[in-house]
Amino acid sequence: MVQKVDKIWLDGKMIPWDEANVHVLTHTLHYGMGVFEGIRCYEGEGGRGAIFRLEEHIDRLYDSAHILLMKIPFPKNEILEACKEIFRVNKLKAGYLRPLVFMGDGEMGLHATSNKIRVAVIAWPWGTYLGDEGVKNGIRAKVSSFTRHHVNVTMTKSKAVANYVNSILAKREAMLAGYEETVMLDTEGYVSEASGENIFLVKKGRVLTPPTTSALQGITRDTVIELLQESGIRVKETHISRDELYIADEIFLTGTAAEITPVRELDDRSIGDGKPGPITRKVQQEFHDLVRGKNKKHPEWLAVL
Ligand code: PMP
Repeated sequence: MVQKVDKIWLDGKMIPWDEANVHVLTHTLHYGMGVFEGIRCYEGEGGRGAIFRLEEHIDRLYDSAHILLMKIPFPKNEILEACKEIFRVNKLKAGYLRPLVFMGDGEMGLHATSNKIRVAVIAWPWGTYLGDEGVKNGIRAKVSSFTRHHVNVTMTKSKAVANYVNSILAKREAMLAGYEETVMLDTEGYVSEASGENIFLVKKGRVLTPPTTSALQGITRDTVIELLQESGIRVKETHISRDELYIADEIFLTGTAAEITPVRELDDRSIGDGKPGPITRKVQQEFHDLVRGKNKKHPEWLAVL
């Protein structure tokens, strides 16, 4: 269960959590036309809360909406401010942040264009997504029987609500089979991403990641590429086959919710020696320090509350 807090920002107003309800004719509920973001806020040194890469997330939210021909009826700076304010009013210094843009009720049918575009900004406390144990020792994953989106079926640069049916099908399949996460292949059969994370592999000191053709252009992915490059490790974006993953020395997943999670086993094959490897550990540590403001390299990535 989501841990309830006091207030939710809905269409420009702070309202009590229990009053943030919608009508059953809400268009997005029926057809999935909506976009959202997942963002984290961390408590750093001195008890200071800061949202990680807030501007990049909000830029992606507006881009996602633009791709779906949805005009967000608020200027960006108002949404940026609401994202900070929701933590302040709820007296949270850390947690998960969920801006959601959706089509309200009014017209029904696929042709509807007059429905109000509505915006919610929600924050709640949220621990590790794939479990503390997974972050520490790695998770077991399974390649999905569900293919990741084709670039011309759904728009993969948009973090669209409807895109997540594909992710949920894959995630549930893996979990029902006893795994924690799934790795999805694209329509050509190359590795795309996990259900809610991007993927990296390490082989003989080289770091590879698939291009973001079918995968979401992850902000954690971008952060990791930057951190690795700053420490002299080049990351190559390239097509990766399923069996290249099997023989990798290390695999890790990146995402706002999952942060940096090692994969210790894929399709019942152990990855490397079955323990998180040195590059994964290094990236995890740097990311951990960066988001909490201990590593001062990128102050521009922290939006202090
Ligand atoms: N891929 C998918 C499908 C996702 O849902 C997410 C989470 N937003 C990611 C990758 C990682 O993106 P980010 O690092 O921006 O959270």
